[in-house]
Amino acid sequence: MISKVLIANRGEIALRVILACKEMGLKTVAVHSLADRDALHVRYADDDVCIGPAPSKQSYLSISSIIAAAEITGADAIHPGYGFLAENPHFAEIVGECGLTFIGPSPEAIRLMGNKAQAREQAKNAGVPILPGSDGPVQSVEDAQEVARTIGYPVILKASAGGGGRGMRIVGAEADLETAYMTARNEAERAFGVADVYIEKYLERPRHIEIQVFGDTHGRIVALGERDCSVQRRHQKLIEESPSPALTPELRREMSEAAVKLCRAVNYVNAGTIEFLFQDNRFYFMEMNTRIQVEHPVTEEVTGVDLVKEQLRVADGKPLTVPEKSDFLLRGHAMEFRVNAEDPVTFAPSPGKIREFHLPGGPGVRVDTAAYRDYVIPPHYDSLVAKLVIRGKDRMETIARARRALDSFVVEGIKTTIPLHRAILDDPRFVSGDFSTRFMEQFRS
Ligand code: ADP
Repeated sequence: MISKVLIANRGEIALRVILACKEMGLKTVAVHSLADRDALHVRYADDDVCIGPAPSKQSYLSISSIIAAAEITGADAIHPGYGFLAENPHFAEIVGECGLTFIGPSPEAIRLMGNKAQAREQAKNAGVPILPGSDGPVQSVEDAQEVARTIGYPVILKASAGGGGRGMRIVGAEADLETAYMTARNEAERAFGVADVYIEKYLERPRHIEIQVFGDTHGRIVALGERDCSVQRRHQKLIEESPSPALTPELRREMSEAAVKLCRAVNYVNAGTIEFLFQDNRFYFMEMNTRIQVEHPVTEEVTGVDLVKEQLRVADGKPLTVPEKSDFLLRGHAMEFRVNAEDPVTFAPSPGKIREFHLPGGPGVRVDTAAYRDYVIPPHYDSLVAKLVIRGKDRMETIARARRALDSFVVEGIKTTIPLHRAILDDPRFVSGDFSTRFMEQFRS
């Protein structure tokens, strides 16, 4: 039985996990870098351990310090959150070897699905549609040229070990392939320590639609609806919503079945996301994320399922408490707006002290944040300040609520993406629901 959970993360997700633990009567341990000693997750947890003087990402990546912190505080489980060590199979393995419970999938599942080229192969073998492309990484420029000629330009090169949009290159014609191949490999090598890249057909105007999946140790795997994450900048998500304005119940069922089939093929346990690209009423597997995602609240709002509590229960060997036929559970509409400490026009990071901080409230408004007035946003970590999650009875009510919530969301002292979100909500294309992942390229605030 899990009784004390160490959260190997920071920011809003660390807080989110602590809240779930509190509701379940579990004790919590926060770990933090010196730069984060005044962070809210440290204040909310029952115990806290400083795991590194380095005011950088390094502290949260220090496996030995995290395990030591668990031992000295008597924690019996570790939740990795997202980012940092969440998709590191080695970490999951060590946690298990130290007699602790890893709150997430098995190291084998993380390893198998974490490599994007390999995950593509798994999807193909499970009968899930994939985009035309290479079988695994391409071995040379010539190899890449041959695949690209066969599938036709444009193509996209992707790092097998990729994530965060790094190591990705779109190539429109053969003349550009060699340079793109070299730069993608270099970028992948620098970012992930592995240079391997693979090729996929590049879709010109797809939507990004992902399915939330969940498996337990009793053989049950469910799909909890989709999230449409087509509002992106540089391939990074800005706004997510559920249900997708583009899906019919029939397509939702097909995508859900495909996602569950893939999870079953790899014996997937705990929370995961199967990402698809969707164009012309067809969907194609893109990748799997073997963790809780930033945008999980969108699903929580339309299904009423607390995904983090389910993660804790499932890690403890208990069955999922999601009712049967979860497809039919979807209620109303939800959207998440990522409020980042960034200039809303140039997207340059804007760390610093928050001088004024007022959160919106009222019906259908949820804010997941670890920020507060006088909090100093350190420059070392990602720039997410808050997630504004809005729920309404339908898409139009959700949009109206989001507008008024953003109008009363006050963050002073730093620049944020609030004005950008507010402008997007007045864009007729966004309001129509008819847009693709290229939406932001066309958008002018
Ligand atoms: P990462 O893991 O680095 O975030 P993904 O594989 O999840 O990369 O892709 C991120 C985004 O890049 C997608 O949401 C989509 O907008 C774009 N993208 C990826 N593959 C393709 C493709 N084959 N065609 C068109 N767009 C793509």
